[in-house]
Amino acid sequence: MSDIFNNELFEAFGSASDNVYIYVCDMKTDISRWSKAAVDYFGLSGEYLENAAAVWGQHVHPDDLKTYTEDITGVFSGKKKYHDCQYRARNASGGYVWVECKGSVIRNAEETPIIFAGLMTRIDGQSKYDSLTGLLTTHEIRYFDFASQPGTALLIGMDGFRKIISNYGYNTGDEILIKFSREINHLCKPGWKTLRFGGDEFLVIAFSSGPEEAADFYKEICRETDIIKLDDGRRVGISISAGGVLFPQDADAKEVLINKLEHSLEYAKNNQRGNLVFFSEEIAQKHERGLVLREDLKQSIKNDFKGFELFFQPFINPGDGTIAGCECLLRWKGERIKDSYPMEFIKILEDYGNIHDVGFWVMEHAIRQQAAWRDTYGELQVSFNVSYQQFLDDTFEEKAISYIEKYGANPNYIIIELTESCQVEAPKALAAMFGRLRARGFKIALDDFGTAYASMEMLKWLPVDYIKVEHSFIRELAQPGHDIDYVIVDSLLEMCRRLGYDSIIEGVEDSKVADIVGNLNATLLQGYHYSHPVCRKDFEKLLDKNVNTQTR
Ligand code: C2E
Ligand code: CA
Repeated sequence: MSDIFNNELFEAFGSASDNVYIYVCDMKTDISRWSKAAVDYFGLSGEYLENAAAVWGQHVHPDDLKTYTEDITGVFSGKKKYHDCQYRARNASGGYVWVECKGSVIRNAEETPIIFAGLMTRIDGQSKYDSLTGLLTTHEIRYFDFASQPGTALLIGMDGFRKIISNYGYNTGDEILIKFSREINHLCKPGWKTLRFGGDEFLVIAFSSGPEEAADFYKEICRETDIIKLDDGRRVGISISAGGVLFPQDADAKEVLINKLEHSLEYAKNNQRGNLVFFSEEIAQKHERGLVLREDLKQSIKNDFKGFELFFQPFINPGDGTIAGCECLLRWKGERIKDSYPMEFIKILEDYGNIHDVGFWVMEHAIRQQAAWRDTYGELQVSFNVSYQQFLDDTFEEKAISYIEKYGANPNYIIIELTESCQVEAPKALAAMFGRLRARGFKIALDDFGTAYASMEMLKWLPVDYIKVEHSFIRELAQPGHDIDYVIVDSLLEMCRRLGYDSIIEGVEDSKVADIVGNLNATLLQGYHYSHPVCRKDFEKLLDKNVNTQTR
């Protein structure tokens, strides 16, 4: 056998990396040698192959075969100096992975090709280490044995990482991930493994450790990473949540473990932010419910919004207690799930992109209703809720105007409530849109004002008409020890007056609170004390009893 194969250098290079494979071919005999890693990973019949071009050709993805063949024949014929191309190759488990294949031909003094040698690098992301953090990638999870070695797995995710990126930029985001991962690695016990799960999620496999030890570790991470100090001296506050699964008792196979971890983390983020939540039957059921809700919601939308309905909650004039209008609140009953509350199904609609369709349905019905009530009840101020995401739809303004025209509603009596003020990432664009909508007569309200850190900041940017003071300041206003709430609400209303905004106080639950807020000079009041949100028929009954509206 040729010396080129019996070469210690080949062995040394061949074992240097797990995702780089080397090969060398004696072109006279057409026998080639492949590194051991290549044999294992691609499932070759052995280290030595005869007619390797044809054998390897069978591993190349049919769609990439032309690229591969053209390149390699170009090199052999002398037209090309180097073999250099990327294609998909089939590995031992039958899947295709992207490889970058580079090689060159060595010729003798007579210019006859004698050796072809090169290397192949896996570039499909199946690399062992994550290029940003240096942690193991999730592909490596296949090498862990969850069935016979007991332990606890934690999936740790950052809360609102997208927000961090939008505030600080991608580079800072990367710096945060690097520093965070170093901290995790540093706190891990010997024998534990840390993997980058993707994005801002990290998987820690705490072999031989029970839930208490894992929980202590999680607490330590929270403590050590709640403020990340950047290289330029800035400090960024971060918060994390985590899902935990015990193995082998809760999961003895990789797929099950990952599924349960993902469900637990999702649950933690939605219900117990900042905490480590271990997998439980309740989480499994919640997840199952989420899947059914998602399907049922989609079905409802397809079915011409069957199951969706608007409820109406009156706005009250503080002076005489009459109904000035209403907030439209969405309700939904699915085929299988009948008791889903708005916070639950709206979140699903937002997470899966269906809020736009449903939002336009709400918009159309609210606007149509404003026009439909006019003849009987006069002009009522009708509001509906819009999340920031919905405003990003290019057709938002166009649709709002077209519904006004279609139903002959009066835009001066339509209030668009912006929910979740803290999520706004492009206030200037939003401000421009609000300006255009207001020029058409629409009124804009900032919902839940006072809770989000960004509320005050947003007032500087956004041209609005109404401020809706958040429930939480109002609900317990009459109870002892809540003087501070009174001061906050009073100051907010004073601010509204001075800045020329109208105000709506919501969450008025009882007569004592109603008495207090009655003296505060808000423009409108809203809350269970006056009425819960009710269906159209019941709201119209309220309107029928509403003394002054007929003459408005
Ligand atoms: P929100 O805009 O803050 O709506 C007011 C919520 O407070 C309503 O809950 C209402 O039923 C409730 N509420 C009214 N009066 C009182 C009271 O006196 N005390 C208390 N504790 N609560 C009161 P609902 O209908 O469950 O809606 C929850 C949230 O769902 C809304 O909060 C809003 O953010 C969202 N939402 C509702 N309909 C829509 C919609 O059509 N589109 C969008 N994007 N979001 C909607
Ligand atoms: Ca609202």
